[in-house]
Amino acid sequence: MFFLRKNKESAKKTKTAKQDTLERLIKEFEESKTSKDFSFNIAVKMFNRIESAAKSEDELLQFCLEDVIFSSLYATIYEELIITCQANMDVAVKLINKFQEGSEEREQKIATQTQQHLAFLERGGECDGCSCCDHHSDVAELLQAYLNQDTTFFIQLYMGMQTIQLTFEQIIYDIATRDISIFKEITKDDILKFREYIYAYTEAQLR
Ligand SMILES: [Zn+2]
Repeated sequence: MFFLRKNKESAKKTKTAKQDTLERLIKEFEESKTSKDFSFNIAVKMFNRIESAAKSEDELLQFCLEDVIFSSLYATIYEELIITCQANMDVAVKLINKFQEGSEEREQKIATQTQQHLAFLERGGECDGCSCCDHHSDVAELLQAYLNQDTTFFIQLYMGMQTIQLTFEQIIYDIATRDISIFKEITKDDILKFREYIYAYTEAQLR
């Protein structure tokens, strides 16, 4: 799962073919800024909705936290899909279409996992046992900010994670299905650096 974790490997610069994939992803993101469906702008609209729905700052934090966990789990699944596509380029578009068909079922599964992680944080980092115990350590890095009720932190994280999830959705469904070559040489490191790039963009916007 990705929140603020930085990859130690990211510091290493290697100018190879792999760099081209990252550059291409960044170019797609940059070009999408003028589109009406720009992921960051959609994330802002989504935030405005939960902000008006929240009756208190506590409730707003709770909404943000829940969505942050949900979108982080989702982004990890997108990452797995992309890597699977890369390893099976001849059937990659079919894989994406099949993946899209399973959206509803997947969302229910992620919603359940989100609730279990939330319960873990609400109990101050304890769990008597659930189907997500193996992965609580991934959300444990949110515990301190949650205990401090750090709303600013969670709003930033919300904007970052929503923008990442929405951007991945566009890359997979809109761009890759038209030109699957974008995944031809993609690596996990490209995906991580792309996430960091998007996150840094949202941070700069909210500053
Ligand atoms: Zn558990």
